[in-house]
Amino acid sequence: MTKADIVIIGGGITGTMIARALSKYDLRTVLVEKENDIADGATMANSAIVHVGYDPEDGTLKGLLNVRGARLYDTILDEMNCRYLTTGAFIAACGEEEEKHLDVLTDRADRRGIPYRILSGDEARKEEPNLSEDVTKVIDFHTTKVIYPWEVALKAAKVAVNNGVQILLGHEVTDIEKMNGKYAVHAGDEIIEASCVINAAGIMADRIASFVEEPWFTMRPRRGEYFVLDKDVHLVQHIIFPVPSEEKGKGVLAVPTVYGNTLIGPNSDYIDDREDNGTSYYGLDYVRKNMAKTLRNVPFNRSIRTFAGIRPASTSSDFIIEESKTSEGFINVASIESPGLASSPAIAEYVIGNFVSKHFDLKEKEGYDMTLPKDIVLSDMTEEERNVLIRERPEYGRIVCRCEQISEGEILDALKGPLGATTVKGVKKRCRPGMGRCQGGFCEPLVMEILSRELDKDPLDIELDGKGSYILERSNR
Ligand SMILES: Cc1cc2nc3c(=O)[nH]c(=O)nc-3n(C[C@H](O)[C@H](O)[C@H](O)COP(=O)(O)OP(=O)(O)OC[C@H]3O[C@@H](n4cnc5c(N)ncnc54)[C@H](O)[C@@H]3O)c2cc1C
Repeated sequence: MTKADIVIIGGGITGTMIARALSKYDLRTVLVEKENDIADGATMANSAIVHVGYDPEDGTLKGLLNVRGARLYDTILDEMNCRYLTTGAFIAACGEEEEKHLDVLTDRADRRGIPYRILSGDEARKEEPNLSEDVTKVIDFHTTKVIYPWEVALKAAKVAVNNGVQILLGHEVTDIEKMNGKYAVHAGDEIIEASCVINAAGIMADRIASFVEEPWFTMRPRRGEYFVLDKDVHLVQHIIFPVPSEEKGKGVLAVPTVYGNTLIGPNSDYIDDREDNGTSYYGLDYVRKNMAKTLRNVPFNRSIRTFAGIRPASTSSDFIIEESKTSEGFINVASIESPGLASSPAIAEYVIGNFVSKHFDLKEKEGYDMTLPKDIVLSDMTEEERNVLIRERPEYGRIVCRCEQISEGEILDALKGPLGATTVKGVKKRCRPGMGRCQGGFCEPLVMEILSRELDKDPLDIELDGKGSYILERSNR
């Protein structure tokens, strides 16, 4: 049995941000994640926007934590050397009725200290020529950012590990026993004893909670599907939103990504299967038709991929962040749907300030470090810088992914350290081979060979992503 003070269940953005924030204290913290890697749930597939906080209603945790989270990101992204774009967000109204709703948003923004600009339809079209002629007025929340969610979650986890947090990947929590005021968390082949458990299990949060009590909430998976447009489609510079509605939430967006692609989506459909992240004809058709409301000339024939994410929504319309009334030390951090990504640093702060601090005397440990060095990214360098690097380390001169110009050196970097990649998708998440136009058609076999060589594993044992997702069936040697 492993002894800990705190067990965090779930390695998405919520769990990793909590682990990062807890890592500066003198506590034994263990994070358990059922998948082979960090950020395989909702954190992997979303719109990647750090919303600034004008959308959630007053008096909600979403409102409170979104505004605070967006502000905390300003520091955290720089501390961890994460990539981001400050794109701004155009909320585009078509006609008088929708314009009235913009007043609700600006009123909230004024009260929350969120800056914005107001543009007429024509002024907005000067900046975004593909905006529909039907758009009559735009609010630009110009401090809105786009991030790379996988990177942020991975780096938060790395900071946590560097400061002493233990992370167990591939460990599914299957039971939690209460014993003498403590919890025994059964996770794969480990049993971890702790006095505090933080349930950050995303769409599975009600099942985790049911191990200790009958939860008052039920998770209700809501899927969102997207098109990814090729990098040479320069459609928009700002995120383009329609005016939000109660029925369909934030609506169908166009989002310029940090690596130069454009995301178009999502729809918002309740589904029965919590793990069904496949795309559907109807979902994508909805996206296609609804994008036309605010944008024209969207070249869907330049789509290089479609994907879907599942919102960890529940029977509650707000985030559920509370300590159980019947099980002391058991903290639910559930129903973290949008703006969960944007709120996550503030969720961590809230959990620690309101609940963890009641159970532990929080003393900062000596020498903790919340920073990470910059990754080597060949495509960000000048030719001169590349030449210097390649002369010293020739592995950076061997290009593996031709679409995204990713070198063997960058892939080797992605395998290093305690949270190094162990799967093909893990490599893709960390340094992006396979993200380009050919979607891994050329580089995936090479990445597999590098993994096999560096991890000293038979190629037959290399997984694409989740447990058992082997790529090869048998050797033909
Ligand atoms: C389509 C879509 C668009 C979105 N767009 C945005 C946006 O632009 N901006 C924004 O702020 N938010 C957005 N969100 C919301 C955001 O993605 C989520 O709020 C956030 O990712 C939730 O993170 P999480 O860590 O709580 O959940 P997850 O990322 O789902 O992590 C939960 C983790 O728990 C693990 N787990 C589950 N069961 C167990 C178990 N038994 N044992 C161990 N581990 C377990 C899972 O494997 C998973 O890794 C969007 C979401 C979707 C789906």
